[in-house]
Amino acid sequence: MIPKNKTIPLFHNPLLEKYSRTNALIVIAILAFTALVLFTVSSIKVPLNIMNELIIFILGFLFFTLAEYLIHRFVFHSGEYTNTEKWQFKIHGIHHATPQDKERLALPLPLAVVLSGFFFFIYWIVMGQYSFFFFPGFLFGYASYLLVHYLIHTRRPPRNVFRYLWKHHHVHHHKNDNQAFGVTTPIWDIVFRTMPSPRRNKQP
Ligand SMILES: [Zn+2]
Ligand SMILES: [Zn+2]
Repeated sequence: MIPKNKTIPLFHNPLLEKYSRTNALIVIAILAFTALVLFTVSSIKVPLNIMNELIIFILGFLFFTLAEYLIHRFVFHSGEYTNTEKWQFKIHGIHHATPQDKERLALPLPLAVVLSGFFFFIYWIVMGQYSFFFFPGFLFGYASYLLVHYLIHTRRPPRNVFRYLWKHHHVHHHKNDNQAFGVTTPIWDIVFRTMPSPRRNKQP
């Protein structure tokens, strides 16, 4: 059994091991900054009403929360994600094995950039110029998700409404890993019926 507050190596190759570790706060800052710059530049270049631009940005943000849920549930938790030999362990199982390891709370930046580029490409094909506002919203959603997740694992729960997010994620990590897949919002857990029962999963 791996102590949950420890760190464990992912790769034998020292260079790969080094680059598999990330400072989540730097990734969050870069993603959020890029999202805001992209939105501003698009707003200047693309002739659309600012209200419509903002609505598409918010839709991109909301769509990220759905992507976050689906990827977490059906990609990260596919197969034996706790088996150290499987690829799912390298991208997510490691986080369940050592949830307090601050260097494993975000994908390395080059990987995040490639993945985001792939999503942008799809949006650009599907929605043309609207993607210039949808994608920054999506990227801002990604940054928000990483920040919420980082805070949940590094700070005590706050004494306000956001405390709920700490409890929700706690259930996923420590009570039932088939429930509570949403990190930024529990909405998709309600929609897809993976919401923990409030009584059975009561916090200590
Ligand atoms: Zn998980
Ligand atoms: Zn977590």
